[in-house]
Amino acid sequence: MTDGRPRVQGIAYTELAEEFGTPLYVYDDDVLAAQYGTLRAALHPELEFFYSLKANPNISVLAALASRGARAEVCSAAELLTAVRAGVDPGDIVFVGPGKSRTELTAALEHGIHAVVCESFDELALLDGLARARGIPAPVILRVNPAFSVKGSRLTMGGRPRQFGMDEEQLLARPRLAKEFPATRIIGVQAYMGTRILDAAVITENTRRIFELAERVGAELDIPLRTVDVGGGLGIPYFDGEEELDTAELAAGLNPVVEEFHTRHPQTRLIMELGRYLTAPAGVYLVRVRYLKTSRGENFAVVDGGTHHHMAAVGIGSFVKRNFPMRLLGRESSGEPVPWQITGPLCTPNDTLGKNVPLPPLRTGDLIGVLRSGAYGPTASPVQFLGHGYPAEVLVRDGRPHLVRERDRPEDLLARQHLIAP
Ligand SMILES: *Cc1c(COP(=O)(O)O)cnc(C)c1O
Repeated sequence: MTDGRPRVQGIAYTELAEEFGTPLYVYDDDVLAAQYGTLRAALHPELEFFYSLKANPNISVLAALASRGARAEVCSAAELLTAVRAGVDPGDIVFVGPGKSRTELTAALEHGIHAVVCESFDELALLDGLARARGIPAPVILRVNPAFSVKGSRLTMGGRPRQFGMDEEQLLARPRLAKEFPATRIIGVQAYMGTRILDAAVITENTRRIFELAERVGAELDIPLRTVDVGGGLGIPYFDGEEELDTAELAAGLNPVVEEFHTRHPQTRLIMELGRYLTAPAGVYLVRVRYLKTSRGENFAVVDGGTHHHMAAVGIGSFVKRNFPMRLLGRESSGEPVPWQITGPLCTPNDTLGKNVPLPPLRTGDLIGVLRSGAYGPTASPVQFLGHGYPAEVLVRDGRPHLVRERDRPEDLLARQHLIAP
């Protein structure tokens, strides 16, 4: 866990800021390894971990996880290309998403990925046509929108109208589905129940019910269960009062459930999707204080980064606006913490990384780290807003920093625009 210490693998954040500039994302390979390794050691060996690139699609971050055994769950042509270039075996890639294009489905077929996770009957029909035209069967996993939901997730998926997956009731009403789409090879079932789950019992219960669902759908539609993808949704604590997911408790609850299903279906490939759980704790968003000011009695530190790189820190998806953990990283802190408004360079009051953040008296030039920022950072943020562009990203491995993404320059942002003659 990036914990606010002034060094990462022995390298001072001040050195990283000096060498690569700020604002900067810093990822710690040791933390990626620890997140993956701890969970891998704890959970049933039949459960394969598919990394959801959506959380952090940097190719070197993916490669770091893949080198430890992670497979890939992709949601776009670019993520598919990233996975292939990072060296993930196509047989270890699944393609999820409610609105895949014809081009994306074609690319999935041509790369020979493990399966397309189909989310609608329309998509099944399109894929069936593409497969027929190519004379190759399209492996498909049906994404089911279950009739049930389990409480305890920040985003409940089952039991309500959603653009994701096919309603369980609709699927069960089409027992001849596999025959309707003969060029597809339906090989299993996927369900994703929600995200940011910190309660091990909820994940266990979700998984148990997804296994039941898979057996129900498999039997009714007469499809083989060659693969069951139980989603995931494992969370990371960001805010005060949230507690780490207890992996020992998860193992104690989940492993017997997996074992039981595996005993009944020994040939079935079992997939768990992991996004933020693997990458969020490994990342720090490093910003530098540009200006200090007070306004109507409040302290403001205007920093060089902001919500255009880190929308998650604004509390999107949370009802209560709470701060990500933030620390002074460049020097020994001295003085009693006082509340700071940490704001960025954008011309909107929403560009606030943290409200009333307790930090020691700040100086211009200080470095502040927003911790647990390795997931849903820049790619989930409006990086082009006000033309600031993408920040640089550095992966620290074996005590050495590697630039894994270059900072956008103004000319990069203009490169794809066309000036038409007046
Ligand atoms: C977003 C998503 C994930 C990853 O979610 P995390 O909360 O980052 O673990 C996994 N599976 C599906 C289908 C998703 O949409």
